Amino acid sequence: MEDVAAGLASVRARIRESLRKAGRPDDAVTLVAVSKKQPGARIEAALEAGQRVFGENYVQEARARWGPLKERHPDVALHMIGALQSNKADDAVALFDAIQTLDRPKLATALAKAIDKAGRRPRLLVQVNTGLEPQKAGVAPDGLPGLLDHCRGLGLAVDGLMAIPPADEDVAPHAALLAKLARRHGLDAVSIGMSDDFEAAIRFGATLVRVGSAIFGAREGA
Ligand SMILES: *Cc1c(COP(=O)(O)O)cnc(C)c1O
Repeated sequence: MEDVAAGLASVRARIRESLRKAGRPDDAVTLVAVSKKQPGARIEAALEAGQRVFGENYVQEARARWGPLKERHPDVALHMIGALQSNKADDAVALFDAIQTLDRPKLATALAKAIDKAGRRPRLLVQVNTGLEPQKAGVAPDGLPGLLDHCRGLGLAVDGLMAIPPADEDVAPHAALLAKLARRHGLDAVSIGMSDDFEAAIRFGATLVRVGSAIFGAREGA
């Protein structure tokens, strides 16, 4: 699994270079290695290469994989980056260290209950549908203040914003909008940028980039 170590090293170098060009500090971006649908050996290779922050899209798949791995690597931070159903809130709160896809009041209410019950408080990011795509998850930018108010009312601390821009569009304006919305609401975390566009996302203010195939290669079934 030389390839994974090399992929990670290359992505990390490109992140450092993008930060340098943008005049931002070296530690301004956290790399979330997206491990969904990757063979176990590739994840082991990433762990061996020192990667500790991972992203998963499906609660069940993540639990099967990371339940045992987290026992061996308690310092791993797992981020939920896929659509989350309210009835999976308990499972998600038990497993994840960050949930990036909070996008509606009903889910916020379910997460607040799950957090109270579990006594465990993952970081929360609100997903924003910056491209206003009807089929896509995420709150529309003009619905963001209302959703943040709802979260505040529940005692939920929101840390930042996340977006998945339209596949065929330049990431730059979406990253700029997301960073602006985060600033306006006093939120630190800005999660945007994937394998094809993380460098541009970093230029426009990303603090979390979610990179899968550029590290691990193509996913199974892809
Ligand atoms: C799969 C996925 C990624 C990673 O995509 P790559 O193109 O493989 O880097 C990032 N973010 C989300 C939300 C994803 O579902």
